[in-house]
Formats: sequence, C-alpha cells, structure tokens
Amino acid sequence: MQVKTLLRPTWIIPIVPEGIVLDHHVVAIDKGKIAAVAPEAQASQFEAKEVVDLPGEIVMPGFVNLHSHAAMNLLRGIGPDLSLMDWLQKKVWPVEGKLMSPEFVYQGSRLAAEEMVQAGITCTNDQYFFPLDTARGLRESGMKCAVSAFFIGFPSAWAKTEDEYIRKAEEVIEHFRGDRQVHVTVGPHAPYTVGDEALKKLAAMSERHDLPIHIHVGETEAEIEGSIKQYGARPIERLRKLGLVNPRLISVHSVHMNDEDIRTLAEAGASVCHCPSSNLKLASGFSPIDRMMKAGINIGIGTDGVASNDKLDMLAETRLAALLAKAVARDPTAASVHKMLYASTMGGARALKWDQEIGSLERGKSADLFSCRLEEVTSIPVLEPAAQLLYSAGRENITHVWIDGNIVVSKQQSVFSYRGMSRMKALTIARTWQNRL
Ligand SMILES: [Zn+2]
Repeated sequence: MQVKTLLRPTWIIPIVPEGIVLDHHVVAIDKGKIAAVAPEAQASQFEAKEVVDLPGEIVMPGFVNLHSHAAMNLLRGIGPDLSLMDWLQKKVWPVEGKLMSPEFVYQGSRLAAEEMVQAGITCTNDQYFFPLDTARGLRESGMKCAVSAFFIGFPSAWAKTEDEYIRKAEEVIEHFRGDRQVHVTVGPHAPYTVGDEALKKLAAMSERHDLPIHIHVGETEAEIEGSIKQYGARPIERLRKLGLVNPRLISVHSVHMNDEDIRTLAEAGASVCHCPSSNLKLASGFSPIDRMMKAGINIGIGTDGVASNDKLDMLAETRLAALLAKAVARDPTAASVHKMLYASTMGGARALKWDQEIGSLERGKSADLFSCRLEEVTSIPVLEPAAQLLYSAGRENITHVWIDGNIVVSKQQSVFSYRGMSRMKALTIARTWQNRL
C-alpha cells in the first residue's frame, strides 16, 4: 500500500480505543487522513514517500481547544490581579471598544494560531467579534476552527442593535456552510449579557442549523446570585427554560454548578468546557469536573483567551485541570491521565460534533496530530509514557505537528547541555536505572 508519510515514534496514544499506549507501532498517513495505526511488524506493507523516525517521542491527536478568544492575543497581560467584572469593565471592554476592527481581530488571531499550533493545538473553538476575520487569521496556520455567530447585548464595532447581531449571525453561518476547515457555533456571550428574547432566537437558530451553542455559563458566584435576583432562576435553569440546554450546548466554565445543574446538563447530554487557568487567575472558583464526568457529562478543556490565562497551552491546561480535579474531589484517583487526555482531544471534538473527523488517531480521520519528545532530561526515565506526557512534558517538547497530513511545525532539536551534561549522557543514566526497576 502506497502512503505519503509513515511515522515511527516510540509510543502512540490513539485516544480511541480509550486508555491505551501503543509501542512498536507506526502511523501511516495518506491524502490528509490516517491510513492506519499498525504494529511495526506490518510496517513493510506501507510504501511511504517519507518515513519520519521519532525515537523517544510520543504521538497523539492534536489538542482540541474548546474555548478561545484568539484575537485577544493582542491584549496579553492586560489587567492582572483584578476580579472578572473589574477586569472586563475597567480593562478589557474599554480597550476592545477602542481597538476593535477586522484588522485587530485578524492580526490577533494570526498570532494566536501560531502559538496554538506550536503547542500541538490543531483545532480551536473561538468566540469573538468579527468571526470572519478570526477564521482568516486562524486558517492561515492550517489549523481547524469553529468560530461563533456571536451575540452580546450591547453595541459594538461588529453590530449596533440586536437585529443586526442576529442578521450577522445568520450571515456567518451561511458564509462557512460546507467549509471543511471552519465550522460555526451559535455564540451568545453569557446569560448575564444576553436577554431572554435574544436567547430564544439563538436557541432556535442553533436548532434550525443544527449547530452547537457556545456560551459562558456559571463562571462566578455573582453571576448565579444576579440571575436568581433578576430572573428568579439559576443560569442553567433559565437557559433550560429558554431551550438552550440540549446535546448542542457547550457550557463554558461551569464553575458554580450545584447538583441540580449537573443533573440537568447530564440529562440533556450537554457538554462542559473547563478552563482552569482562567478560573484560577480570576479567582472564579473550582469547577467540579470529577462530579460532572461521573454524572456522564462530556468534558472538554479550553484555554480561554490569553488575557485571562496568559498562554494558549493545552498540555499545561490539561495538567492543571487534572491536578485541580483531584484536589477538588479530594481523591487522587479522580481525573485519570487517560480521561484527561481524552477530554483535551475527543471531549472537545464531541462537543463540537466534529468527532467523526478529528480527536483521535483512527483510520479515515484527519491526520491532525503531534509528536512530543519524552526522552528529555525533563521527563526521563519514561516509566509511564501517557502520565509523563501529561505531567512532565511541556509544550516546548513538542517537535512536530501535522494538520491534514501536512507538517505545520517542525522544531529543530538542539543538543541540550545541562551544566556540561549532554542529553545522551542523561538518557544513559536514566536507562541504566530504569533497567534495574
Ligand atoms: Zn471566554
């Protein structure tokens, strides 16, 4: 069988089937798709135009970042040490009011795309003004994305009135219809910035076009209190009554979820996007993701925008999510390595209804994947490859990224020297002791 590329890494995490690490396997790529994940013994059946040897490296599907505001890469560092409302009202919204334009969004998104692909993120779910320009910036890197048919209940450079927001949302949906690289979600900003009537219209829009709903929900305690005061219901209950809680819902943040909220989301088959760095930086609270996962809710991981993170690093985000989930659940067996790697890839793909094409290394899916060098001083000896990818490796260890089978990142490996110790010397020490374990 002729294929374009054959990857020969030391380990592979295919994500599906769940919970396994393959060694002595190869990944064959052809026509932008995964042609096979096969044992090394069968590698001779593939006649590859290029063979990429990846000794000491682990290959897995590209991360699906389930929540970003890519254009905000131009606002990195803005307003540290503030509460969410102070941060939004005093810093973010005034600056956005001043700078917001298609060019701002395009340039910021272009930078974000560069940061994301280098970190192994091959798809992101974005929400922002000027979504056509977000897509323009993101797609230049080769990455896939979902952009939002965006709605917020106040005038902006993108739209002045509620009717204009709705009209433009429909235009965004039409613009990307059938696009393989850019999908669309219906994107009301949050329950506290969008009124009942608009939310109903957006729920109907999502149903009519069968598109996911991408909305911030239950981010702070103040949001819950405000909702009870103004609407007599918690945000999830209000959204449910308005028709937004269903399998298409991506409930972003979902920090303050009580048992009833969790039951409502689980019964509806909705997804939750967990953004731990943003929640910690803004002291929003601790999302009960272990309880939500155990209730059967599909969980994905998101970076949020760099203005509240301040980096687009899904490996770091997933690591933090796992550590936090254990502490919140007071249970070290919570949020297992494989569950968290699943959340950061397939979890996002499922929430976006894109899981037939992306999120795992299965035959026929898009060849969106990355390779990370585990045999580095910072992550040896390699006793548990999946755990060490999650807990020891960093985005700087990611050496190659492919999207649709095309290489988009290829980092030259330097021969590191740690106070005179070469990488080879460090590996020798680690392997010597590893063999005695
Ligand atoms: Zn956000």
